Amino acid sequence: MPAQLIDGNALAHQIRQQVQGRTAALKARGVQPALHILLVGEDPASQVYTRHKVADSTETGLAATLERHPADLPEAALLARIAALNADPAVHGILVQLPLPAHMNAHKVIEAIAPAKDVDGFHVQSAGALMTGLPGFWPCTPHGCLKMLDAIGYDLRGKHAVVIGRSNIVGKPMALMLLQRDATVTICHSRTAHLKAQTLQADVIVAAVGKRNVLTADMVKPGAAVIDVGMNRNDAGKLCGDVDFDGVRQVAGWITPVPGGVGPMTRAMLLVNTLEAAERA
Ligand code: NAP
Repeated sequence: MPAQLIDGNALAHQIRQQVQGRTAALKARGVQPALHILLVGEDPASQVYTRHKVADSTETGLAATLERHPADLPEAALLARIAALNADPAVHGILVQLPLPAHMNAHKVIEAIAPAKDVDGFHVQSAGALMTGLPGFWPCTPHGCLKMLDAIGYDLRGKHAVVIGRSNIVGKPMALMLLQRDATVTICHSRTAHLKAQTLQADVIVAAVGKRNVLTADMVKPGAAVIDVGMNRNDAGKLCGDVDFDGVRQVAGWITPVPGGVGPMTRAMLLVNTLEAAERA
C-alpha cells in the first residue's frame, strides 16, 4: 500500500488559523505582534521568500515590515539597524534574510539580534536553548518537520531516526529535537560511509541535503516515516525534494511531498515564533 501523504499545506493552514486566533487575543489586550524583515541586496529567491513571509504575516493579523537595503550597505549600517530594532518595543521578531552579500559576516549579524526577537532561531543563544531544553526559539524548518510527525500522532520514543544533513539551520537542530523526543538519532552527511545501511534501519528519515534522489526506495525500511526537506529542480525545472518520491512512497508508511510539504510548514512556524515573541514580551 502506498505511503500516506503528510499534507504540509493543510497542516500549515491549521497552524495559521491558530496563530490568527492567538493574534486576535493579543490585539484585544492592546498588543500588535510585529515582524520586521531586513533584506539586503537583490537575490531573486530572497525577494520571493520575503514577500511570502510578509503576505503570510498580514493574512494572520501579524504586522510585517519588509525593509530593503542595497547590496552595498555597509555591515555597520545593518548592525545599527538591528540595534535600533532590538530597542524598539513595537517590534517582536527580527529576521535578517540570508544569504547576505559577501562583504558581510552573517554570524556577526545574526548574533547582533536580541535573542528574545530571534524568530528564525539562528542565534547561538537560541541554539543553546534547544541544546539544553530551555525556552527559546527553534529554527522553523526542523520545528515544522517535528510538527508534521506530531500531526500523524507519531510516537518517537525509542524509535530510530536518521537525519541526512548536518547544517546548523536544519540537520543539527532536527537531530536535537528528535533526541528531545527520546528517539535514537543518527546524523549522516557527505562523508557517511554506507548511507543505505543507516537509512534501512530507520523508523524515521529526514532528508535535508539539497540533492535529488539522495533517498531511493531500496534505502527505506517498509513503513518508515519520510520527511523531505530538500528543495531542488528536476530536469523539467519543476520543484522536487531529496527523495525519489514515486519510488519511496511505495515502501514508506508516511511521506511528505515537495512542493506542499516542509516548505509551507517552515513558513507557518515563523508565524508561530513571531506570535510567541509577542506573547513573551
Ligand atoms: P546545506 O547547508 O548545504 O547542508 C547539506 C547537508 O547535506 C550537509 O550536511 C552535507 O554534508 C550533506 N550532504 C551533501 N551531500 C550528501 C550526500 N550525498 N549524502 C549525505 N549527505 C550529504 O543545506 P541546508 O541549508 O541544510 O538545506 C538542505 C536542503 O533543504 C536544501 O535543498 C535547501 O534548499 C532545503 N531547505 C528547505 C527548506 C524548506 O523550507 N523546505 C528550508 C531550509 C532548507 P557535509 O556537512 O558533509 O557537507
